[in-house]
Amino acid sequence: MSTRQTIDFLLYDWLEVGQLPQRERFADHSRATFDAVLDTCERLARDKFAPFNRLLDTEEPRVENGRVRLPQATHEALHAYAATGMIAASQDAEIGGMQLPCVVEMAANAFFSQASIAIGAYTMLTHGNAGLLLAHGSERQKQVFAAREFAGEWFGTMCLSEPQAGSSLSDIVTRATPDGAGFEADPLGARYRLVGNKMWISAGDHEITPNIVHLVLAKIPGPDGKLPAGVKGISLFIVPKNLVDADGQLTGIRNDVNLAGLNHKLGFRGTTNTLLNFGEKGGAAGYLVGQPGEGLRCMFHMMNEARIGVGLGATMLGVAGYDASLAYARQRTQGRPIGAGGKDASVPPVHLIDHADIRRMLLAQKSYVEGGLALALYCARLVDEQHTGTPDARAEAGTLLEMLTPIAKSWPSEWALEANSLAIQIHGGYGYTRDFPVEQYWRDNRLNMIHEGTHGIQALDLLGRKAVMQGGAGLKLLARRIDATIARALPQAHLATHANALAQALQRLGAATRSAWATANPEDALANATPYLQAFGHTILAWLWLDVGATILESGDAASSANVGRLAALDYFMRYELPKADAWLRVVESRDNTCRDVPEDAF
Ligand SMILES: Cc1cc2nc3c(=O)[nH]c(=O)nc-3n(C[C@H](O)[C@H](O)[C@H](O)COP(=O)(O)OP(=O)(O)OC[C@H]3O[C@@H](n4cnc5c(N)ncnc54)[C@H](O)[C@@H]3O)c2cc1C
Repeated sequence: MSTRQTIDFLLYDWLEVGQLPQRERFADHSRATFDAVLDTCERLARDKFAPFNRLLDTEEPRVENGRVRLPQATHEALHAYAATGMIAASQDAEIGGMQLPCVVEMAANAFFSQASIAIGAYTMLTHGNAGLLLAHGSERQKQVFAAREFAGEWFGTMCLSEPQAGSSLSDIVTRATPDGAGFEADPLGARYRLVGNKMWISAGDHEITPNIVHLVLAKIPGPDGKLPAGVKGISLFIVPKNLVDADGQLTGIRNDVNLAGLNHKLGFRGTTNTLLNFGEKGGAAGYLVGQPGEGLRCMFHMMNEARIGVGLGATMLGVAGYDASLAYARQRTQGRPIGAGGKDASVPPVHLIDHADIRRMLLAQKSYVEGGLALALYCARLVDEQHTGTPDARAEAGTLLEMLTPIAKSWPSEWALEANSLAIQIHGGYGYTRDFPVEQYWRDNRLNMIHEGTHGIQALDLLGRKAVMQGGAGLKLLARRIDATIARALPQAHLATHANALAQALQRLGAATRSAWATANPEDALANATPYLQAFGHTILAWLWLDVGATILESGDAASSANVGRLAALDYFMRYELPKADAWLRVVESRDNTCRDVPEDAF
């Protein structure tokens, strides 16, 4: 099946997105306008992104005379993307947006991630940056910075990490001091001077747009000159690469933001990744966003959508590898069937896809990547519910998103990466060379378990905070949703065994959560947070696959080849994958200390 067929099925048949135009916010839309957006993005991704994916990998960004050079194709693809209005697709019409549902926006952006994820990163960051300013910026900051970003005139970045502070942002040391006596009177916001180093900044320097809007986390020193401890001392600043006047016109003066160097990465090479020095010449001008000390809270505003976006990107790299390995398996011949005559050299060899083990690897990929796509779109649909549902539905959607975001980010990062590894395996030795695209997909995808909160940090968030918040209310709500799917699936003969297996897994997950916390000691509970994350993720995916299966069987169209394929992927996931959750939960439940207690000198 093509990506478009899968997306159409998930959007319209499963999530019933065609009904969203009944809501006031989406009243100008219809299935026809959603389809038009999907058509445009699919075409643009095919014509302007996909053909250059390998070029961007081999022609890494480089610095010439202090300026970052990128292939011309990057400039052209991004200008074409900006011209579609997609950066502001889900924003209000009055600021130039299309008021598109988040779920359609994400589905449309999926084509770009599949075609060339490294190009798409520039606009994803810009979209998140501008969205944050809309929520927390002053009116002037919205007009000067966010509006230009939504129009694609300037791009944006997120500057959180520092060389010594990645996962632990409370340890950042970038310093922001008030810029003179009248610092609060600047029309662009209270003006500070920033001094510090920001590491790993994606899209941190380039000449695709005439300005770059950096959103920078920094600390304002107290009266004693010391930086406040902890996350409550972190504030957020807009630091433009080039200075602008109160109306946003470029002044021709460079801000004190300096490119210290580019990072040379395993994958994702088409996106520049930079070490930026702020304040080499005394201090970079930065304008406070929101209140002092609220910086991390503001940043978290965009985390849900950004993390769903990371998971979707990982998934689409998985889709790209699946498609490539499927095409290869259909075309390459090798070996003969097992059984009588199998060793007869006069019998022509079969295609790879005729071997059961190859079909196993294809089904595994299909179950990971189509399941990952279902997960991302389900979460995006919850974002729409949070914005446009009834008050009760909004609250429920918010709680479900809290629970599901760590999974939406981390599950595809792990399992769509595994899908990419299987795609290489299907290619045999050829997959290990640069003559085929699958090795690049794997390299590009390897980032996703690291950025936007590492795998381990997502696991701590899930078991340490989300699973126990409000006395486990989020987990209970999620369990009710899963139970509803189980009840829906039980009457279907094809699904009854799967429904029972899911019911057991869910019960086990609840019991393991309680056992993990039985001593009320976080050190005991969290020693096995990552196996818990894995088991949780597999349970969620089993739920979504079962729900997809129920939709198919209720439609009475189980015999079409698309649905036969989906039901096979569902069977695969339930029989080969869900049982793994049991092993992962065993160490959680017993609060196993193997890892925690091994002495350092034993390594
Ligand atoms: C290509 C790329 C692009 C990036 N883009 C950006 C960007 O645009 N903006 C930005 O601000 N940052 C960006 N980052 C930074 C990224 O968010 C960090 O790399 C990430 O947060 C991890 O920080 P670190 O690299 O310092 O690793 P560390 O925090 O040192 O972590 C190393 C390992 O230790 C584990 N670990 C850390 N703390 C704990 C703990 N308390 N308990 C258990 N395990 C722990 C981690 O899970 C990880 O496995 C990017 C990174 C890369 C590689």
